[in-house]
Amino acid sequence: MVSFRKVTKSYGNLVVMDSLDLDIAEGEMVTIIGPSGSGKTTVLRMLMTLETINGGVIYVDGKPLTHMPDGNGLVHANDRYLRRMRSKIGMCFQHFNLFPHMTALENCMEGPVHVLGLSKKEARERSEELLAMVGMADKRNQHPSRLSGGQQQRVAIARAMAMRPKVMLFDEVTSALDPEVIGEVTNVIRKLVAEHHLTMLMVTHQMGFAKDISDRVCFFYGGRIEEQGAPEELFGNPRRERTQQFLSAVK
Ligand code: ATP
Repeated sequence: MVSFRKVTKSYGNLVVMDSLDLDIAEGEMVTIIGPSGSGKTTVLRMLMTLETINGGVIYVDGKPLTHMPDGNGLVHANDRYLRRMRSKIGMCFQHFNLFPHMTALENCMEGPVHVLGLSKKEARERSEELLAMVGMADKRNQHPSRLSGGQQQRVAIARAMAMRPKVMLFDEVTSALDPEVIGEVTNVIRKLVAEHHLTMLMVTHQMGFAKDISDRVCFFYGGRIEEQGAPEELFGNPRRERTQQFLSAVK
């Protein structure tokens, strides 16, 4: 569903992504862990086309993300192509980023109405269903300022899902939350995995969360995958010295 092929990203002289190869299968749940500055968030930002890459190609759903075929090869994609590719990807952020002047329901309806062109009725039905799935049906008419962090994050997940993405990206979605509400967001993500069979890529600093929820964990170091494997392998028996050092420091 997602493939990075020799992807390179630099800021000036600083190489933050060094010939990255990463494949994520349909329905797979992959977590990225690693030290601060190792490039974890950059991977998500590149997939959201928030960063231009300096080399390599990213494929989503079998097609290059930012380039389109043109007789002799690939050329920079036009806006229409980019919009279509972007709509395959949903993202949730650490700080929720809900529209503060809209209710939970309006937040969810905004994209389906204005980007996908759904009627208000269709968008409302879809959004109400998703708000019920994340346990927020009774708060649908509240504004974000009246909701707890965990509740806002659940609305943000429903909002991203309302666009029917094929791939969901989660950037530190539990980091800004109080420990007692982390469970409610984790349970929603688990439910998405079980019921929607979505492809997911997640960055986290919480090893328990990564261990619990992932099919595969990638340990990033210096813009490369230093080691990857099933959570029980990577956490139980890390082979590389850098992985061992990182895991013993974060325990
Ligand atoms: P953290 O765990 O602290 O969030 P990370 O692993 O997600 O870190 P990234 O945010 O992907 O790391 O950043 C990777 C590197 O790129 C860092 O060295 C960072 O300073 C650098 N970087 C990120 N964005 C920019 C930018 N806009 N301009 C210059 N350097 C940047």
